[in-house]
Amino acid sequence: MRLRFLWRLYITYVSLVLLTAAAIGVLTERQFREEINTRIEHQLVRESAALVPASRPLLANADFAAAREVVTEVGELTETRVTLLLPDGLVVADSSERPENMENHGERPEIVAALQHGRGVARRFSETTQTDRLYVASRVSANGTVVGVVRTSVTLADIDAQSAAMRKRVAQGAGLGILFALGIGLFVARRVTAPIAQMSAVSDSLRQGDYTARTQLDRTDEIGVLGENLNQLGTDLSKRLSGLGRQQAQLRAFLGAMQEGVVAIDPRDRVVFSNAMGRRLLHLDPGEHELDMTQMPGGLLEVLAEVRAMGTRAHSEIVQRIDDEELVLDARGAPFTADDDSGVVLVLYDITNMRRLERVRTDFVANVSHELKTPLTSIQGYVETLLDGAIHDDEYNTRFLEKTHAQVRRLTLLVSDLLSLARIESTSFRTESAPVDLREIITESVTYRHDPLQAKQLKLDLNLPDRPLLIDGESEGLRQIVDNLLDNAISYTPNAGSVRVELRSEGYDGILRVGDTGIGIPDDALNRIFERFYRVDRGRSRELGGTGLGLSIVRNIVHRMQGTVAVQSELGIGTTFTVTLPRADEPIVISESETHS
Ligand code: ADP
Repeated sequence: MRLRFLWRLYITYVSLVLLTAAAIGVLTERQFREEINTRIEHQLVRESAALVPASRPLLANADFAAAREVVTEVGELTETRVTLLLPDGLVVADSSERPENMENHGERPEIVAALQHGRGVARRFSETTQTDRLYVASRVSANGTVVGVVRTSVTLADIDAQSAAMRKRVAQGAGLGILFALGIGLFVARRVTAPIAQMSAVSDSLRQGDYTARTQLDRTDEIGVLGENLNQLGTDLSKRLSGLGRQQAQLRAFLGAMQEGVVAIDPRDRVVFSNAMGRRLLHLDPGEHELDMTQMPGGLLEVLAEVRAMGTRAHSEIVQRIDDEELVLDARGAPFTADDDSGVVLVLYDITNMRRLERVRTDFVANVSHELKTPLTSIQGYVETLLDGAIHDDEYNTRFLEKTHAQVRRLTLLVSDLLSLARIESTSFRTESAPVDLREIITESVTYRHDPLQAKQLKLDLNLPDRPLLIDGESEGLRQIVDNLLDNAISYTPNAGSVRVELRSEGYDGILRVGDTGIGIPDDALNRIFERFYRVDRGRSRELGGTGLGLSIVRNIVHRMQGTVAVQSELGIGTTFTVTLPRADEPIVISESETHS
């Protein structure tokens, strides 16, 4: 680029210099030639004019011998050929040739002109000397009569030689001048093109994305201003691009952190943008690619089609079944146009949990109503029977009142369990920061259950550490965990079975295990027993005074305390619940154990 511009400029300059030199040379040469011609012609005119008085008496007196001597002498002195002729053209004397060898010159143009006008000049080929010559002839008159003509001449070869010498000198001078001019021209061309080449290199770098490229021009003229503007352009461009990059990064971070999935699709079903959640919800690979429409849920295709057809927003709730799990998506579509890009932007929100919670709440209300209705119906029945007269019947009145009492107890239990659940699930429920000794709570709970254990002749294996085991939790909550698990173990274990309670420390956790040799839980019910009101055998549970809320209270409290609860069971063999809770104290190694029965 630089070379091209430099050489183009230089070639133009060289052409100009050569043309000018050639024009000046030609003009000068012509001028010199004319000057030489004029000078020699004038000299010949002066010589011939000077010879007129000398030749007059010789011609008038026909003294041709003397004439010959004169022309020979003058010819030698002036290095000119001198000729004397009579008016009829007869040559009487010539400084270069014998007159008798010369033909009549009466027709020669210079002679004709001299006889007519007094002087004649001619350039022509000389037959006598066989050269091109310049002739000047002057008429010689005596007493008003023409007595002859005196003619002087030189060969044109002399003039040519002089002008050739002059041409050579001009050419030498011009050559030197041209060489000098070419040197200066190259220097100037380099100086002119160097900053342009520099700016061209910088603009190339800017175009290729190197925004640090700058020109280094130390000048204040227009080129300097241009370079400075280019530098400013680079600075502005890099500032703007880094601003743009920052904005893009922010936007990507915002969209990446969004709970909503965002997927933009162009008219050819290509994904032009997607955030992480969008890809997760639609099971897409990252990057720009074509959507496999056969894999898209029907509802989504409808939203897409509606937005494309109407050019307005569209909305749909999409239910998908993926590996036995239900996924509910709230899908909203809106058209977008950006420059020459257009398409549909889909905003997807996973509302599976929301829908599930709604269902759970509805189920819960239905369950609570049902659970409350059963004892209330019984109570109403007994009370009405009593009022109808049974109160006076000694055989039934006490039995009916006892049954009513039992139902009221059941109701109280149910309401107290519901209140417990509500309290645990409320956002204001906070576990105590003060450590609670779980070993002590277990000891108390076991002590309270001495009678029921005795009644069913159950053997109790109590395996507790020899020192307190502190849990960061609420003592009431911990008590409910132990009571519920222990009550279930007693309730669902037939007479003469055994119940095992074990507490130990493992790493940073306290592990509570409550096992029994009871009826066990069927496999398909294992992951449902923690649900509210779920019972394997509804009638049996009721009979045993269960509310169906005990295990869901346990799970809720454990989760609140950042712990886990697991169950292992075998039908007819027994069940073991394992509760893991983070300990409040430093880990200790428990080796000793106590066993009570
Ligand atoms: P319930 O008040 O009916 O005991 P829970 O929530 O405590 O309610 O327990 C839910 C169901 O889990 C019980 O109805 C019972 O079918 C089953 N279950 C709980 N603990 C045991 C156990 N130790 N052995 C056998 N089944 C159990």
